[in-house]
Amino acid sequence: MDLFAPRAPAGLSAPDASGVVRIALPVPEDRLFDYAVPAALADQAEPGRRALVPLGGRRVTGVIVERADAPSPEARGKLRVLAQIVDPEPVLAPELLKVLRDEARALLCPIGVALQAALPAGSAPRPVELVELSARGRQALASGAAPPELVRVLGALSGGALSRPALARRGRASAETLTGLEREGFLRRTSGLRGPAAREATVPTVRLSSGTDVATACAGPLARAPKQAALLRQLAARGDCDLAALAGEFPTAGPLVRELARRGLVERGTRRASRPVLGDEVEADRGVELTADQTAALAAIGGAIAAGRHERFLLHGVTGSGKTEVYLRAVADALARGRQALILVPEITLTHQIVARLRGRFGDRMAVLHSGLSDGERLEQWQRLRRGEVPIAVGARSAVFAPLERLGLVVIDEEHDGAYKNEEGFRYHARSVGTRRAEGTGCPIVLGSATPALETRHAADAGAWRRLPLPRQIGGRPLPAVEIVDLSVERAATPRGRKLILSAPLRRALRATLAEGAQSILFLNRRGFSTKILCFECGHAEHCKHCDIALVYHAGDACLRCHYCGFEIEPPAACTGCGAPDTALLGVGTERLEEEVRAELPTARVARLDRDVASRRGATREILRGLRDGRIDVLVGTQMVAKGHDYPGVRLVGVVAADLALHLPDFRAAERTFQLLTQVAGRAGRGNVPGRVVLQTFVPDHYAIEPVRRHDYERFYRIEIEARAQLGYPPFGRLAYALVTGPDDAPTQRAAELLAAAAREAAPGAEILGPAPAPLARLRGRYRHHVLAKSADSEALEAAARALAAGAAAVRRPLAAHVDLHPVNML
Ligand code: ADP
Ligand code: ZN
Repeated sequence: MDLFAPRAPAGLSAPDASGVVRIALPVPEDRLFDYAVPAALADQAEPGRRALVPLGGRRVTGVIVERADAPSPEARGKLRVLAQIVDPEPVLAPELLKVLRDEARALLCPIGVALQAALPAGSAPRPVELVELSARGRQALASGAAPPELVRVLGALSGGALSRPALARRGRASAETLTGLEREGFLRRTSGLRGPAAREATVPTVRLSSGTDVATACAGPLARAPKQAALLRQLAARGDCDLAALAGEFPTAGPLVRELARRGLVERGTRRASRPVLGDEVEADRGVELTADQTAALAAIGGAIAAGRHERFLLHGVTGSGKTEVYLRAVADALARGRQALILVPEITLTHQIVARLRGRFGDRMAVLHSGLSDGERLEQWQRLRRGEVPIAVGARSAVFAPLERLGLVVIDEEHDGAYKNEEGFRYHARSVGTRRAEGTGCPIVLGSATPALETRHAADAGAWRRLPLPRQIGGRPLPAVEIVDLSVERAATPRGRKLILSAPLRRALRATLAEGAQSILFLNRRGFSTKILCFECGHAEHCKHCDIALVYHAGDACLRCHYCGFEIEPPAACTGCGAPDTALLGVGTERLEEEVRAELPTARVARLDRDVASRRGATREILRGLRDGRIDVLVGTQMVAKGHDYPGVRLVGVVAADLALHLPDFRAAERTFQLLTQVAGRAGRGNVPGRVVLQTFVPDHYAIEPVRRHDYERFYRIEIEARAQLGYPPFGRLAYALVTGPDDAPTQRAAELLAAAAREAAPGAEILGPAPAPLARLRGRYRHHVLAKSADSEALEAAARALAAGAAAVRRPLAAHVDLHPVNML
């Protein structure tokens, strides 16, 4: 240390302090907080470990991000001292820490909020508020003159501090009594630590103590304890073992071991045992010979893996074109070079399928990370990766933060899927984080999709991603035949008053498929049903004059409103499309659809899969297994059934209302519709028999629907990219989105107006839309107003975003606000 440097400021007293650390705390303030490090903790206070620190009157857990020699100017004079180091080793490697800092900065997200999202939930000890005896309390207790109730309460604290609820219980006192005692100075607040909520599971083990001589012990002290002697001999023969393993031979192993331990002959311990989470599905590996297209793709990816070079690939191939096979081979390449692989899939239902295939090839050498695990299970999986015990991480969005120190490959399957976007707190996109990680570690990233996101495809054309096309299905199998049913024609042919849910062609197809002994999937995307007004006669939806976006019906004030610009009209008395007098809210849900199918096909075994059903633990897997095993004839469901993989028995896929998602007030509505329909269509006929797809729609010629007939991504892409260019939406313009919510409408709207005004002032070059009520104008009792900034000029957009972010940070409870720089869901 430089002896001539200015003295450490107050609070950092020279003899027991050793430098300063900058810590990210989980608070909505975007900065690091400086703390002095006590000399005793100097070795441990390294970046990537969590620490417990005082903040105001409480203690919080944060992540050490940097070391420094001196506090930053703002912290001078009020530097506080770090209380405790939480982790025995760093939980964030420098590589991941840097990625997180960069991504958080790019998204204007407070660094502490971002880091918290990247670590397994419940894995840090929790600071808790406690109360203890004050000097006055101790005196009162010692004096012997205190009233019995007071002695009872204070006496409960003689063993040490307790939480208030625990004290209330033990001292049999009400909360008011405790508050009173605190006010009178008998009690004092303090803080303590409770163990982490999530823990790795352990099992008890036993082994011989180092000095134990078995023969001597059996002849001597154990001469009259034959069972203990037998157990000791058994242990000598086996070596260390789980206590449970002895139970077969020694039903009373527990007490026997306790007795032997008391004599010092054996030592008891524990062993980590992760709970099984891989499930029981393993898909047998069939060694296949790669097609020429697969070979070319793998050569490109393998080259980058071998060279340890960051390269970005877009594996663009229809469903069944062999993308997964390419991922598996690339993973094998990475593993052969001693590196680890990270594989992301959008949903848990998909995770099971890919896990089964990975296991068929690589055995159980993998960890899975997804939201279906308990905190403890997720922590175990995370630890297995961090300790380098397994080389493969597979999981959903948040698995992109998997602790992999030898990362050699990143794969993002179905990269266009909206599930990769995190919608709260740290609003990252897994594609962006995955790309940063691959870049930081010098390894390739592979995005796979049959329908790449418009932005990805556009970037590929500009050279940012190298396209690896897989244009054909494996085995030259034809793609399913897609039949588009025009519902307006069907409507005309259907008796008035009869609801049109299943058209005649779809009913015929269902009956034929059942007769052939094959399976059908019926798909109904329910989202947006109740909010949008749609003429049931012609399918016409009212659109905004300025935004070319469907208007949303607000029952409260009975008007149709644009959720981008705020434009509104009264609902027309007759449909402006066809003149029909009774424009109705379409009200068909999956339950209603299921009933309809049962009525139509009384002998069929019908099952339903939607969010309601899936909320029962294990239900999704059970249903999908039923489908695979042929125990279900017709599966009815929401977009959950669109995902998933190979169900060879499914020959028919019916889409009940293909244009539903098209009218959602979102500029990505057409893109999502095309992607979803193409994906659903890919579900049919993956066995040896070609499949069949029936799409019911009111707009058969729409550019997001018509190209599905020939699985023609290119045609859709050309039209959509042109529309985006004209309207300045991504990838041509960038967006910054702000949402303000609050319990009352007027103050929420006013706050949104302030944000919009600040953005307009800060960025005259950006287009600021709104504020306008969000499409979901009230959610869980809170009103929602949003502002959208749009610009092709990065600087203008950033200025607007900063103004929005500053405004959002200044919003006070009960209002809340956030800013999203890569908005995906703007409902
Ligand atoms: P995708 O991921 O594009 O949907 P998959 O990799 O799942 O495609 O391949 C579809 C099916 O074809 C799978 O059953 C897979 O085992 C099989 N398959 C993949 N590549 C080949 C190949 N080169 N030869 C034979 N079968 C293959
Ligand atoms: Zn509008």
